[in-house]
Amino acid sequence: MLIMGPPGCGKGTQAERLSRRLGITGVSTGEVFRDHVKNQTPLGREVTGHLDAGDLVPDTLTNRVVRERLNQSDVKAGFLLDGYPRNTAQLAELDVILAASGQELDVALQLRVDDDELVRRLLHRATMTGRSDDTEDVIRHRLELYQQETAPVASAYLQRGILLSVDGLGSEDDIFGRLLAALRESFPEAMPDATTPG
Ligand code: ADP
Repeated sequence: MLIMGPPGCGKGTQAERLSRRLGITGVSTGEVFRDHVKNQTPLGREVTGHLDAGDLVPDTLTNRVVRERLNQSDVKAGFLLDGYPRNTAQLAELDVILAASGQELDVALQLRVDDDELVRRLLHRATMTGRSDDTEDVIRHRLELYQQETAPVASAYLQRGILLSVDGLGSEDDIFGRLLAALRESFPEAMPDATTPG
């Protein structure tokens, strides 16, 4: 499965909780890139400018990273992708990657949050974590890119009948509860016992 939503919608937090609760591997492309930047790897040096500007990393690099990651053994039993695909070319590439390994996407989760709230949250996050792409201009640019590039990905999954869209306003626990409820409704057999902590 995958989780998508605009910058600041809280998908990273929810992705971590979901992968823990469901016992599946989480794969966040943003995290992978930030780790490479921190560790100053060759890939990190290539992507750092794109991250700081709030631009998408070029598809060739991103697709390679995802293809390699999804070929590792810990995702065979399932995975939760966070931050990919972010445009329709990446969507097509994900189809190819999954078909090659005999896998299939069951569900695309979407968190919905309006722009004013997103800007407010991201500016607040900037004061807490100092992420280099959390400045007002860059935030607005990332939101625009989301509308232009990534919203069509959600539309495509909606058309395929696998989009589960959830209101992203509220407390972390509220939103986690909504995501679990939506999943339980669509995949009752795949969901762990509601009393499992996580
Ligand atoms: P957010 O959704 O808040 O922008 P992410 O951690 O998902 O945060 O992504 C941070 C940055 O990493 C993006 O702005 C972009 O530069 C890069 N990135 C992450 N995923 C992708 C992707 N699938 N394609 C291109 N660039 C990506």
